[in-house]
Amino acid sequence: MSAGGQNNYKLDLRAIKFTLYEHLNVQQVFEHERFSHLSREECDAILDQCVRYATEVTGPLNSSADRVGCRLENGQTFTPPGFKEAWKTLFELGFMAFPIAQDAGGFGGPMTIQSVLQEIRSGANTAFSMYSGLTHGASDVIASFGTEKQKTRYLSAMIEGRFSGTMCLSEPHAGSDVGASRTKATRLDGNLFKITGTKCWISAGDHDMCENVVHLVLARIEGAPSGTKGLSLFIVPKVWVNDDGSLGEPNDVITGAIEHKLGIRASATAVLNFGENDGCRGYLLGGEENVGIRQMFRLMNGARIAVGVQGIGVASTAYLNALSYAQERQQGSAAKNFKDPNAPRVKIIEHSDVRRMLLEMKSKVEGMRTLALKLSLHYDLAEALAGKDDAKAKYHLGQVDLLTPIVKAYCSDQAFRITELAIQTYGGAGYVEDHPVEQYCRDAKIFSIYEGTNHIQALDLVSRKLTSHGGENFKNFLQEIKTFVADHSSQPGLGDEVRALGEATEALERGAATLMDFFMSSKIDQVTLVANLFLETMAEVTIAHLLLDAAVIAKSKRDTDGDDPDEVSPEDFAFYAGKVSAAKFFVNFVMPGVHSKVGAIGAGDRSAIDIPDGGF
Ligand SMILES: Cc1cc2nc3c(=O)[nH]c(=O)nc-3n(C[C@H](O)[C@H](O)[C@H](O)COP(=O)(O)OP(=O)(O)OC[C@H]3O[C@@H](n4cnc5c(N)ncnc54)[C@H](O)[C@@H]3O)c2cc1C
Repeated sequence: MSAGGQNNYKLDLRAIKFTLYEHLNVQQVFEHERFSHLSREECDAILDQCVRYATEVTGPLNSSADRVGCRLENGQTFTPPGFKEAWKTLFELGFMAFPIAQDAGGFGGPMTIQSVLQEIRSGANTAFSMYSGLTHGASDVIASFGTEKQKTRYLSAMIEGRFSGTMCLSEPHAGSDVGASRTKATRLDGNLFKITGTKCWISAGDHDMCENVVHLVLARIEGAPSGTKGLSLFIVPKVWVNDDGSLGEPNDVITGAIEHKLGIRASATAVLNFGENDGCRGYLLGGEENVGIRQMFRLMNGARIAVGVQGIGVASTAYLNALSYAQERQQGSAAKNFKDPNAPRVKIIEHSDVRRMLLEMKSKVEGMRTLALKLSLHYDLAEALAGKDDAKAKYHLGQVDLLTPIVKAYCSDQAFRITELAIQTYGGAGYVEDHPVEQYCRDAKIFSIYEGTNHIQALDLVSRKLTSHGGENFKNFLQEIKTFVADHSSQPGLGDEVRALGEATEALERGAATLMDFFMSSKIDQVTLVANLFLETMAEVTIAHLLLDAAVIAKSKRDTDGDDPDEVSPEDFAFYAGKVSAAKFFVNFVMPGVHSKVGAIGAGDRSAIDIPDGGF
């Protein structure tokens, strides 16, 4: 592996492995037939290789690529120096094949490990990770819904990195309102259609890293119903692919522009004109009309979780960079010496406010990671149990469904806030380009916008996910926390926090009941007004539960009261003590906000709705 510029990417593999194996017991998946071809040792070797790739290949390109960005010249988009080589290495090392099913030519690896691989790659270079993330998503949709011919023509080329993929939903007037799409499809012959229209903000929409770009385009077949129900999904390659797999003519997909953006500048965000010269052709995916939104949702659900994980990757490296800086930067004296101008200067990590910021970042990063991995474990277990124990598989899938908008929205919102807190921890040094955190903050902002804005996620949670299957998924979710509270409310050193979690869970239930009352009395605008508050409330209760669960395990591994200091190494002692501190901090500094949010939900204030136009 070759090295580029300076690597700023930092990760805590010990913390990741604690969550995977000591806390969530992810190794249980290898006992199921579905994953029995893999072992923890093999997955650890892949993780180690990914860390090397991230720190030696893509991490060193992150800052230089941000400064250079992408450029469009004579209709072709060029990525920053080093990207082409990094793309080639990514596929040679087999990372892209890891999550793909074995019968489609992949490793069939579990989502839990794949989520960690995604976190690492996104943290090291989130702009670069966009290209491969979309390629994976698009190939998965073709594998799930494509005809045999479509799979043969595109899948292996995408798994090998010869073709990349995109998702084309957005149009200038149709962002959140996907159903307003105007891109048109006119049948030419069988599944072959003429495509005309403009898609905008298409990530990885054009680039120079491989031979072809395969666009998955939502378009309306002439005469189809309006709204999302009339949308179909088309495979529209940039360069036409012949029956024998060889490349043919360019397919009249013209890159009209690439955007100049706040962050992820090395990810080409393209305006794509399909059929400007009346020569764009595409194949109807799977040969089925008007099911495009359902097909695209497979990609979008995976991508929503992946965006949350992107947030965790960037937030984690921002936190760890801020931690390193705080351990080195000397400024001011200890608070107890505040009257003595000659008192020795200290490292800023000794100031309690800096420690507060660091622990807020740590607790949120580790809590969000646990949340994303817990969702992934539910997914793996649902797959492993399908056809063997369908009731359990259904339970696990229900939890995936419920937690997806929370992972997407909370982890992306908090990623931006954590990167901002990292800048604050640095002081002025964080605001300038000499350190990586200003880029992390710019990069992180997009996570709350794309893949459905976070308000769209909140609407999904309150209007669909809470009530789906008669509310059973939400009930199961609450029951798990209540059982934990009942089991651990007398836990030495953590009992107060566990009981506080119990009270926060009751508040969450009250918040949900208030939402239902609003629905029953047709106060829909009141529901949409407080939907984001409810999502945050649920996320914070979930994360408090997971952090406390981790703390109980950490305490059992090492009695952090220090009775028996020889039992574990000093490093492990500090590590496990850090888990307890993170849980206590989150419960005492972050979780109290749950009560004020539930209070606001119940208060029914309508000022944001009723304020007259001139009042803003
Ligand atoms: C860098 C970047 C990359 C992107 N990549 C892709 C891609 O690869 N493929 C793709 O198809 N798109 C992509 N997008 C587009 C992205 O998905 C949209 O920007 C997003 O869905 C929001 O749409 P919009 O920008 O039109 O905002 P709008 O839909 O106009 O929303 C503006 C505001 O109004 C709110 N709002 C909108 N509708 C409602 C409603 N019904 N109720 C309440 N509030 C509402 C939103 O929450 C938001 O706060 C990308 C965008 C960017 C900036």
